[in-house]
Amino acid sequence: FVKSSVIEGTQFEDDSDQETIDAKDILKRELQDERKTLPIYKFRDELLKAVDEYQVIVIVGETGSGKTTQIPQYLHEAGYTARGKVACTQPRRVAAMSVAARVSQEMGVKLGHEVGYSIRFEDCTSEKTMIKYMTDGMLLREFLGEPDLAGYSVVMVDEAHERTLSTDILFGLVKDIARFRPDLKLLISSATLDAEKFSDYFDSAPIFKIPGRRYPVEVHYTKAPEADYIDAAIVTILQIHVTQPPGDILVFLTGQEEIETVDEILKHKTRGLGTKIPELNICPIYANLPTELQAKIFETTPEGSRKVVLATNIAETSLTIDGIKYVIDPGFCKIKSYNPRTGMESLLINPISKASANQRAGRSGRTGPGKCFRLYTSYNYMHDLEDNTVPEIQRTNLANVVLTLKSLGIHDLVNFDFMDPPPSEALLKALEQLFALSALNSRGELTKTGRRMAEFPLDPMLSKMIVASEKYKCSDEVMSIASMLSIGNSIFYRPKDKQVHADNARLNFHTGNVGDHIALLNVYNSWRETDFSTQWCYENYIQVRSMKRARDIRDQLEGLMERVEIEVCSNASDLDAIKKAITSGFFHHSARLQKNGSYRTVKNPQTVFIHPSSGLAQLLPRWVIYHELVLTTKEYMRQVTELKPEWLVEIAPHYYQLKDVDDAGSKKLPKGQGRAAL
Ligand code: ADP
Ligand code: MG
Repeated sequence: FVKSSVIEGTQFEDDSDQETIDAKDILKRELQDERKTLPIYKFRDELLKAVDEYQVIVIVGETGSGKTTQIPQYLHEAGYTARGKVACTQPRRVAAMSVAARVSQEMGVKLGHEVGYSIRFEDCTSEKTMIKYMTDGMLLREFLGEPDLAGYSVVMVDEAHERTLSTDILFGLVKDIARFRPDLKLLISSATLDAEKFSDYFDSAPIFKIPGRRYPVEVHYTKAPEADYIDAAIVTILQIHVTQPPGDILVFLTGQEEIETVDEILKHKTRGLGTKIPELNICPIYANLPTELQAKIFETTPEGSRKVVLATNIAETSLTIDGIKYVIDPGFCKIKSYNPRTGMESLLINPISKASANQRAGRSGRTGPGKCFRLYTSYNYMHDLEDNTVPEIQRTNLANVVLTLKSLGIHDLVNFDFMDPPPSEALLKALEQLFALSALNSRGELTKTGRRMAEFPLDPMLSKMIVASEKYKCSDEVMSIASMLSIGNSIFYRPKDKQVHADNARLNFHTGNVGDHIALLNVYNSWRETDFSTQWCYENYIQVRSMKRARDIRDQLEGLMERVEIEVCSNASDLDAIKKAITSGFFHHSARLQKNGSYRTVKNPQTVFIHPSSGLAQLLPRWVIYHELVLTTKEYMRQVTELKPEWLVEIAPHYYQLKDVDDAGSKKLPKGQGRAAL
């Protein structure tokens, strides 16, 4: 991140060494001046006084007022870091990284030294680190090693209004340790006005308000509902670009795929606009975007051009981009939803809440009057949007959290101090699932398997699969598969002009119809055989970045294997052994072929389909196991492997009985033992 205005015009053109040092100094000084212009600066001393006086404070301030970047620095300047680290949690990985990078610049230190970040599978901190930005999930994991967080003097739970699952659990844990650690300071900060609720929860903690500056925002609605919000967004971007005065545009999309689509179409459409129209710089931002590119959204837009930021929800409150004057809000976001009755979890594109819509609109009025274009009608806004987003804890699978809490020695989950308790059905489902995975015994206590599973920062099903690989002597293969699955959906790419080549390259990994899990393993192993060659990735239409990430994750999993004392050994020729290890984790996700080519999940029957991108999409095996469900036009299973039904009974005898997998098909649902056992 270099401010070009600083580098240009320095007087030291002859001495390049001199120039970099002085340019850095000037940059630092300029950043120091910039710090003083933030709304929070006027309240610095008052805030520090309040922290000194009270153990817990709730802080409320408009997005962009400087909470995340400034408060940890103030605390450092006031000497808190002499007693222990300052932690600042973020719900999102990108936010933790980006904010840490910014703060290290402001302090003029190298990222990872005094200021660092810690996110899943990436620890950019050192002995020296005093200010640590981290995802809420990572702080939760730190409790496992250090239940009183002795290394910290202050914990700032930031973006509390997001109410992620990990944040909600952190609330309960930090509230508890604050009781026996009077020296620990807790700051709960939020961008919205639900502060009373936080205050009530933390025994009437004082609320510190940072008045923001906000300019008026003109909100425009569409006259009629839009059939396709992607199309509508593109048209709106171009209209703004061609007809509206200078100012950058921020568009809220639901995920990487949408962002890439819009990026591609916009590039294509702006090519034909001619030289009279100013340049349009397109800046995508989403979780898997490489770090170098993430910084691009913060670069100042050159005079005479316009920037359009295509962002996920991350730009709603976590990241503030200066210079935004126009916001386009299609009104959707991707959220995980969970049906505790069936135990099915799915990523769904859902309408946002009114609170989100208002946050989004507010992004355009930070530095001057703004405009927000909502791609829905005012009737939709008034009548269809909920007031607030339901906290994640009430709409997610809790197995992971239950496993973490159990390994922290918290057994009485029903009486855990939740701000908003999860549905008891969901808690019960989680206990059942962990019992079926043999992570808990019939008294609900952690087993040896459960203890080992808790060491892995993965979903219980994935960590069970890894722990089970010991039995099948294929831990090498299973670790690779788990790492590849953790990357998500960004391993293969398919350029529009070379789709056939890309598809053929991809089919190579499926030779023998081995299923998607083994195909992922084949990709990883082939890459490893080329000594991790980038060229090989190009030739095979594979994203080298994703592969490197998979390799990093794999390295870390291998480190954890040592901790749980599982020997790394390879059993590459025995595919059934590998598939059985996968089944040990994912037996809940089994499905059986129906006459019409659809599938029916075995427990809690539901109709699902094999995703068209699967290597088994044409083959339709009788029995399959899948990694996840995604709902697009249909409910699809993604990453699918064929399975022998008798494995289910062999591997998960308390979950499946012979009649479940009897191909003649008895309709009656068996009584699982899980519930009775709890
Ligand atoms: P808050 O947490 O109250 O929303 P922040 O501390 O995140 O506010 O932001 C304060 C200022 O710092 C904003 O003007 C924002 O643009 C700037 N900022 C934050 N992160 C970065 C970054 N990575 N690069 C450049 N500027 C940043
Ligand atoms: Mg913030």
